[in-house]
Amino acid sequence: MKAVRMVETNKPLELQEVPVPNIGEKDVLVRVRAAGICHSDAHYRAGRSAMGMMPITLGHEVAGSVEKIGSQVTSIKAGDRVCLHYNITCGDCYYCSTGNEQFCETVRMLGHHVDGGYAEYIVVPARNAIQLPEEIPFEQGATLMCASATALHALNKGRVKAGETVAIFGVGGLGLSAIQLVRAMGAAEVYAVDIQQDKLELASEYNAIPIDAGRVDPVEEIRALTKGKGVNVAVEMIGLRKTMEQAIDSLGNLGRAVMVGLNQQPISINTYLQVLGKEAEIIGSNDHLLRELPLLVDMARRKILDTSRVVSQTIPLDADKINGRLDALENFTSDVRVVVVP
Ligand SMILES: [Zn+2]
Ligand SMILES: [Zn+2]
Repeated sequence: MKAVRMVETNKPLELQEVPVPNIGEKDVLVRVRAAGICHSDAHYRAGRSAMGMMPITLGHEVAGSVEKIGSQVTSIKAGDRVCLHYNITCGDCYYCSTGNEQFCETVRMLGHHVDGGYAEYIVVPARNAIQLPEEIPFEQGATLMCASATALHALNKGRVKAGETVAIFGVGGLGLSAIQLVRAMGAAEVYAVDIQQDKLELASEYNAIPIDAGRVDPVEEIRALTKGKGVNVAVEMIGLRKTMEQAIDSLGNLGRAVMVGLNQQPISINTYLQVLGKEAEIIGSNDHLLRELPLLVDMARRKILDTSRVVSQTIPLDADKINGRLDALENFTSDVRVVVVP
């Protein structure tokens, strides 16, 4: 089969001819129908994250149809449409058995530690395959498995409840999913903070109240809009020191700030005024859980989560085209979501 693989760091990915992978008794072989190209893939290619092996087929946002099942697989049959949870875990360690399998001691990620979806076929344990209803095209199913799933996990970590107010900092792929999911969770009001007009307009189309941080101080604006109270939950999805501090600053009493954007810089907090006095919480959110995915897929099926505008381009399984897209992500030239359709 054909696979587009990373052979060396900091070099273009290469199209290779490799054997169709063998499956174990609890695995499924999936014919890849869609594999999303993600910003992480650009980081991997540039050598900013240690890979589990080399050469390796990249691609962790995968959907397809089941080609073959292992002898012990009963939950899925050949021909089923599926999308794949990208973390392969043991199921037995302390973290797996307490429902926090993103910390599994032997976690391996598709397209990072083991071969991913820029290929004609991929093998995964059967439990990693989630049924994908007919209503959701493969391309949209694939992209659900990364940004939208991470957004849902962040909101779960923030314990968003009906009637609460929520501020989302950053209206990219994560933020747009979060805005819609927060609505589905019954939030009374959602504030969307960004500096780009097109993103703010998109946020208001999904019934969020846009706040242009290029024109106003978002913390003051949120205080004004909540009659001085501040929000119940603020979710930071950008990864900048300034917006992290603003997210914490926008909280009301008993508020929860969820940190999703990656940032290595320390931030400054007045623990008395911003945390202790308000009994506020600062919560880290990392990745997502297998058990969150069936609900996410169902929300997309019921159109509570609109996935129709996520994918803007599809490309074939072609090394040059994939490399070109990774170059664009590396240079931040666009937010366009591109999916490989082998
Ligand atoms: Zn991704
Ligand atoms: Zn485990």
